[in-house]
Amino acid sequence: MTPNLAVDATVESDDTLPMHLFEQMVAGDHEQVIAFQNQATRLRGFLAIHDTTLGPALGGVRIWSYSSDDEALADALRLSRAMTYKASLADLPCGGGKAVILLHPELQRAEALEAFGQLVESLRGRFFTGPDVGITAADLAAIGRATRYVACESSPALGDISEQTATGVWHGLRACLDFARIKKARVAVQGVGSVGMWLARILKREGMELIVADLDSGRAHQAAGELGARIVSPEEILTADCDVLAPCALGGVITAEIVPRLRARIVCGSANNVLAGSEAGDALVRRGILYAPDYLVNAGGLIRGAEYYLLKRADSAPSLARIYDRMRSVLDRARDLRISTARVADELAEARLKRRKLFRDLCWGADPSSACGTGG
Ligand code: NAD
Repeated sequence: MTPNLAVDATVESDDTLPMHLFEQMVAGDHEQVIAFQNQATRLRGFLAIHDTTLGPALGGVRIWSYSSDDEALADALRLSRAMTYKASLADLPCGGGKAVILLHPELQRAEALEAFGQLVESLRGRFFTGPDVGITAADLAAIGRATRYVACESSPALGDISEQTATGVWHGLRACLDFARIKKARVAVQGVGSVGMWLARILKREGMELIVADLDSGRAHQAAGELGARIVSPEEILTADCDVLAPCALGGVITAEIVPRLRARIVCGSANNVLAGSEAGDALVRRGILYAPDYLVNAGGLIRGAEYYLLKRADSAPSLARIYDRMRSVLDRARDLRISTARVADELAEARLKRRKLFRDLCWGADPSSACGTGG
């Protein structure tokens, strides 16, 4: 018999939750956090909606083996906030959200993802999801059996979201290379999964030299075989002798401790939340290493998803190419003001959100889509 796939319990604003949850939500200005579980399929996870000022929350779902519930929650909070900033900076009519599912041996994957899809469906479009780390096409199809609100179709019209993300990273990297007057670069790609492999292909096509590492040695060998990349171990990749470090695995890899050992002149990759903290960003500035803000350059997939699903646009290539211009203006502004690129990007993203919030308040609660125009 098919198990009842409904999510058994969601917890929102329950005062039995530890205070630190609300402290974290207030600190990050999160609108909503849902803890979900389904006994039949051993599904457990968190869904965080950071901000819907600009439109419905868009954000992928990640499956990962977290060491604790707290770690998973922190990831959902961080990632959803980054999505809001990403959408704002890319001038899209959507807000930020993210879901994380705890990976463990008892998880009945297909059924669990279908149950997760039911949760997404129950939000009736307030949250729209898609792929993130650990998610396969089969996972997306399982979610798609229960909800309309998932980017699960593979259609030539939509294109490959990971490829679009990689294309956006390339546009951002082009801007950094032009700014630093580097023509041919040696690029170290950390993680040659969905995005990293596409990025490596583009870099190869553009005549760059490649160094790769992946925890999954099969993937590293695929990059070596297909693209002639040199493989180094996951421990060596961050400090490899290169011009560009492209983190395309998990976040938090650029720490204040690792910065003095970096040999790259540019850090530009797809991974979300690359900087472990603001000290890491400051340390990069002190060393004169150009940092491409992650949510600026990895917005390609979000741009394509939002334009395809929300704006019904056939082609997002011009919007992806604008990542080059945005990156250039962030670099110029950071140089002129002598502040970090991360701070410039944050200020730009926050300014658009603030403008919209002010505008909404000026409408005295009227539906902004009818009285004051739609998001965008
Ligand atoms: P993925 O799971 O397909 O690939 C990640 C790869 O990194 C895997 O091959 C994994 O084995 C490898 N990896 C993990 N830790 C590693 C380490 N310490 N050293 C070396 N390799 C390691 O994920 P993805 O979809 O390619 O996403 C990569 C990053 O880009 C993530 O941070 C994700 O949040 C971000 N991102 C992805 C998209 C997208 O369109 N998929 C969009 C925006 C941002």
